[in-house]
Amino acid sequence: MSESESVVTDVEKVSVVIVGAGPVGLTAALLLARRGIDSLVLERHPAPYPLPRAVHIDGEVMRILQEAGVADGFRGISRAMPGLRLLDSRLRTMAEFRRDNLVGAGGHPEASMFDQPDLERVLAEAVAAEPRVRVVSAATVTGVTNGSAGASVRYDLAGEEKRVDARFILGCDGAGSTVRAALDIQFRDLGFAEPWLVVDIRARKPLVMWEGVHQVCASGRAATYMHLVGDRYRWEFRILESDDLNELTSDEGVARLLAPWAESVDPADLEVIRVASYTFRARVAERWRVGSIFLLGDAAHLTPPFIGQGLGAGLRDAHNLVWKMARVFAGSSPAEFLDSYEAERSPHAVSQIRSAVAIGWALTGGSGPTAALRRTLVRALSRIPAVSTAALSASSPRLKLLQLARAHASVGTLLPQPREGDEWFDDRLGTGYALITLDPVADRSSGVTIVEVSSSSDLGRWLSTSKVRAVVVRPDRVVAAVARTSMEISSVLDAVAEPVVERVRSA
Ligand SMILES: Cc1cc2nc3c(=O)[nH]c(=O)nc-3n(C[C@H](O)[C@H](O)[C@H](O)COP(=O)(O)OP(=O)(O)OC[C@H]3O[C@@H](n4cnc5c(N)ncnc54)[C@H](O)[C@@H]3O)c2cc1C
Repeated sequence: MSESESVVTDVEKVSVVIVGAGPVGLTAALLLARRGIDSLVLERHPAPYPLPRAVHIDGEVMRILQEAGVADGFRGISRAMPGLRLLDSRLRTMAEFRRDNLVGAGGHPEASMFDQPDLERVLAEAVAAEPRVRVVSAATVTGVTNGSAGASVRYDLAGEEKRVDARFILGCDGAGSTVRAALDIQFRDLGFAEPWLVVDIRARKPLVMWEGVHQVCASGRAATYMHLVGDRYRWEFRILESDDLNELTSDEGVARLLAPWAESVDPADLEVIRVASYTFRARVAERWRVGSIFLLGDAAHLTPPFIGQGLGAGLRDAHNLVWKMARVFAGSSPAEFLDSYEAERSPHAVSQIRSAVAIGWALTGGSGPTAALRRTLVRALSRIPAVSTAALSASSPRLKLLQLARAHASVGTLLPQPREGDEWFDDRLGTGYALITLDPVADRSSGVTIVEVSSSSDLGRWLSTSKVRAVVVRPDRVVAAVARTSMEISSVLDAVAEPVVERVRSA
């Protein structure tokens, strides 16, 4: 026995240990509980992090919160956001992209604004009501090790060193992840590092400003302004090399930064909650899994905030991994199936990070002639309907599936989710695979949930527009396979019934 093992006073065994009670860790715990899997969440802080960070999620991510059981709670702390306005350096509007329909194909607002501490409170309340999740606060994880049938976590609780053994460990411990360091996994740099000042404000009177996000497209003092919810607002300003950070973050410095907005904002009405400088980075972990230990959320990737997808990517990680893990626990898939987590999520995250870097550069990069050209281009492009649609799109890139993949434009995308009265369509699909079909299916022996839809229903019309008779969706509502004709439906169902390991091995 090594010296460090000899001081461990308490060893317990659980199904899954989650390191970090941030939004990704708590959501993963709720998703696991929904599939009947117990977890222990270890969090180093005694209370949730109180200051604002993420402020935006899209409708796809909202659907994950729906599955975690917190959609109603989230609706109560968020608002639908109507679009994007691009301003020049003198705050004159160059282009405006407005959403005609606030609700998207997934049944939720395509973009929602909120304040991260509110979301963390909603998640913490849901977790507190969930008997399958146990959270231990003030527990600092110091190391993780893979074993032959699982992994171990060592942590410090009130000066006492403890160990817990688990089948799987989820490292949801943020950008400075102890789990990532313990696995000796490096971040790959995707070429972006910029310091920004984040100014969070509470206003005594509502600010008279359009409710969409305002982006100042300037190669110097680029800035973003947005109303979060209620009396809370945020400005972000790029920090310049010539800035004196002490001066910039002083009351006078913040007043100077806000001065150009004085036409809409009376500084006397504002209470500054927090002024913080952050270096926004673009990074992705070189590996997301070692044995029974996985990285999720900011532990696995960091993105600049230009398309507001940092937290969303982490929630997508949890969603992608948990249903696969549930299949492994149930014995329906082997542990190798979990390799598809990194294989699917890493390229998706990289693609979104690269988009954020590219959009950030297009809106705020370059200098002199580039900036002048941007003004002309932005004005011209904003008049093209397809550009407006792309600027407002809340659809993330298609997932490149290892499993069941059959070439068709809808494979790898999310099934639309109509709302039928008080019921979400996803709730009819249960927690397993499902077949959505225009044609009756007599043989129900596959164990797949079969939902027949009429050609006049929302999903029926979507199937017809997609030129298919049926689709198979995975437990995460991603379209996995299509039947173009009625005859193909039974072969698609047979493919779902095959042991998943065979398909993963042959992919
Ligand atoms: C200024 C700013 C603006 C942002 N805006 C957006 C936005 O608009 N949209 C968006 O989607 N994202 C945004 N983000 C990113 C978003 O805040 C993060 O992506 C999100 O918080 C990541 O969640 P997480 O659960 O992975 O990590 P975190 O929220 O960092 O949580 C990690 C948790 O792990 C705990 N922990 C760490 N180490 C240990 C340990 N050794 N033992 C035990 N516990 C540990 C921490 O205390 C923490 O509670 C923004 C970030 C910043 C900084």
